[in-house]
Amino acid sequence: MDAEQLRENAHRMVDFIADYYKSIESFPVLSQVQPGYLHDLLPDSAPHQPETLQDVLDDVRHKIMPGVTHWQSPDFFAYFPSNSSTAGFLGEMLSAGLNIVGFSWVTSPAATELEVIVLDWLAKILKLPEQFLSSGRGGGVIQGTASEAVLVVLLAARDKALRKFGKNSIERLVVYSSDQTHASLQKACQIAGIYPENCRVLKTSPSTNFALDPNVVCETISQDVAAGFIPFFICATLIGIATGRKNFGKQKVGTTSSTAVDPLSALGKIAKAEDMWFHVDAAYAGSACICPEYRHYINGVEEADSFNMNAHKWFLTNFDCSALWVKDRSALIQSLTTNPEYLNNKASQENGVVDFKDWQIPLGRRFRSLKIWMVMRLYGVENLQNYIRKHIKLAEYFEELVISDSRFEVISDQYVMRFAVGAPLTEERHVKAAWEVLQDEATILLRGL
Ligand code: PLP
Repeated sequence: MDAEQLRENAHRMVDFIADYYKSIESFPVLSQVQPGYLHDLLPDSAPHQPETLQDVLDDVRHKIMPGVTHWQSPDFFAYFPSNSSTAGFLGEMLSAGLNIVGFSWVTSPAATELEVIVLDWLAKILKLPEQFLSSGRGGGVIQGTASEAVLVVLLAARDKALRKFGKNSIERLVVYSSDQTHASLQKACQIAGIYPENCRVLKTSPSTNFALDPNVVCETISQDVAAGFIPFFICATLIGIATGRKNFGKQKVGTTSSTAVDPLSALGKIAKAEDMWFHVDAAYAGSACICPEYRHYINGVEEADSFNMNAHKWFLTNFDCSALWVKDRSALIQSLTTNPEYLNNKASQENGVVDFKDWQIPLGRRFRSLKIWMVMRLYGVENLQNYIRKHIKLAEYFEELVISDSRFEVISDQYVMRFAVGAPLTEERHVKAAWEVLQDEATILLRGL
């Protein structure tokens, strides 16, 4: 890399991005292009000779940007937040600049050691039990996504069960979750070779706010055990954030589709009694638990074997950065370790270091801890907490708007419109504008009835 060329071109790229953020509200949030639009705009093979950055930026402006859906727009309320921030961006930039591949400690000691430290910091902010800290038998690791996080812990749990019951027992291993659990668990089960008919997706109901009912879990486990199956994994979830003061009492945190919060303590105790692995998926709502007033939603996490939250969703850390903690790191390592001759090194052989390649699926890994470290340092815990509180206030404001119009109801069942506040730039006026769009659409719809 030519340093002066980098300096000049990176300045131009930063200007481009800064201008984008300045004008972000002028774009339609949802890209308006049709499938295949880019095919007609770009050549069908790569250029033989170099082009200029200006040529590329012109194409980005005129050909790429129309096909972008603006997740960072303050008017974006779909799916879930995918936060970027200056701090996260700078960390990402530094990571790209250093471009190390930190699979083993020796390949870049700072990458491994910073990751260990920042995940301990984050665990302390979340007030996770001490067993999740690196000082004991546990520890944290950054995965790319929550899907990878649940896959690696499922593999660890599966192998633990297979060691206990024998390799042939795979056909008897059973996983428990609810109809509110994210589909990433189903995919993990497919990859891990869990028999599809052994994945118990337990029904939830409005009477339990769509949370898993421990009695139903107990009954199902008893029936399974009686039939010769081996219960080995429970996934509990808390995901989204919903104000729902009218319909759910004071509940604010929940799963993607409903806002349900599974009863962690009760499920954890069941898991312990049956010697099952207990995973808590807090990919989305986990960030809210940095605020003391929302921390109680993960009461019972003490019982969990693993806990996951996506810093790339609602913690101002640019994608990707999914934080996973386990109480027993050796279970992960036993499942995922490989030690080919060409990776041997003294530090690993002496067993005194963490080699994160053994805690994840790929070998290679980026220096992702830089961005979450920069987020925590450049904001400070207090500002991060206030950031969450601001979004919750805005969501409550939206709820008030909905309640004040008798044509709408706040519910968590059937066919619903989900309104997810969490983009970093969102202010009250954006929520109001979105609400006006919904009201206009309702008026048109009702006129047609
Ligand atoms: N689990 C929950 C609760 C989620 O909300 C999501 C994403 O919406 C996921 C898992 C999957 O996240 P990822 O894209 O990081 O795999």
